[in-house]
Amino acid sequence: MDTTCVSAAERIPPETTAWNRLVEARWPAGVVCPRCRGREPAFRAKRLEWRCRSCRYDFTVTTGTAMHRSKVNAAKWVNAAWLSDLRPAMLARELDVSAPAARRMADALEMTGLPPGEGRLKALMNQPSDRSEALRRRLPATFDTNANPIDGLSRGQRTVLGILRGRIRGTTLSQVAAESRLSEDHARRCLNALAERGFARREKASLPWGYGSRKVVLWSLNLSEDCVSALAYLLPPTPTPQDNTCADRVPPELWSLFWNGASAKDLRLPDDAFFVATTLLDGPDPVARSWALRCLPIDALRRCRDMRGCNTGEIATRIDKAIARRADG
Ligand SMILES: [Zn+2]
Repeated sequence: MDTTCVSAAERIPPETTAWNRLVEARWPAGVVCPRCRGREPAFRAKRLEWRCRSCRYDFTVTTGTAMHRSKVNAAKWVNAAWLSDLRPAMLARELDVSAPAARRMADALEMTGLPPGEGRLKALMNQPSDRSEALRRRLPATFDTNANPIDGLSRGQRTVLGILRGRIRGTTLSQVAAESRLSEDHARRCLNALAERGFARREKASLPWGYGSRKVVLWSLNLSEDCVSALAYLLPPTPTPQDNTCADRVPPELWSLFWNGASAKDLRLPDDAFFVATTLLDGPDPVARSWALRCLPIDALRRCRDMRGCNTGEIATRIDKAIARRADG
């Protein structure tokens, strides 16, 4: 079939047809879970997604393939498999996709090493063995075919669970809301639902605040066996963009660490940054150290790096890393 002389618009079939072709190309003998090879997964038509009945993995037709997470729709990928000119500029024009997308498509098509046609589409839909390996490694060690502890958790609840995982010392409702980008109401509902399932707990705590303390409600993981195995099913944490803007005051929860007569509330940054850096970086509080590394001016960190106490060992390494990371960003 020579389709290279037909215009792209005529060739592009309706999206569902293209999607069916991807499914047939990938699983001619029936859909198989890309993670555990379980058969006959449950199909969720609304999301064009399957859920494995054995390992409860959610997957789509492109999971683990070269098209995984591609923003280009199925129809364009199908058409690309029949194009003979794989120069990215040509792909971009023929399929009306962005230049980066065209480059990625060209790479994937060339990797198959096959001429245009059905064979190339099939090769494109094949999950390379290194990707199957990566997926299988994510199977929890306590893989149990009957129960998935995060089954039934909403997207929001999973996100919130992931945030709690990153905040072992606990966190407040407003921080959860800010980090998850959910409204406070929504975040509260998620936290309560997690508490009901025994994954989260809520406690009153008193935090150092200024020269006194402040009562807050802290949410944290309830590290039951169920909760630990649920965490294994969550996706790995996505790095959250760090707030690198330099502060102009020391946050009140750290004031109590300034013991030597200085009134921490009167300290101003960047003028007092060096003093603040020496106090916090050399001190015992890990939260204070991480705040200092993230928020104090880089100059102050550099000066501090040369001081006794900070010029060797782990703290020296951490300062170097912080400086390097912030210089990049
Ligand atoms: Zn499976």
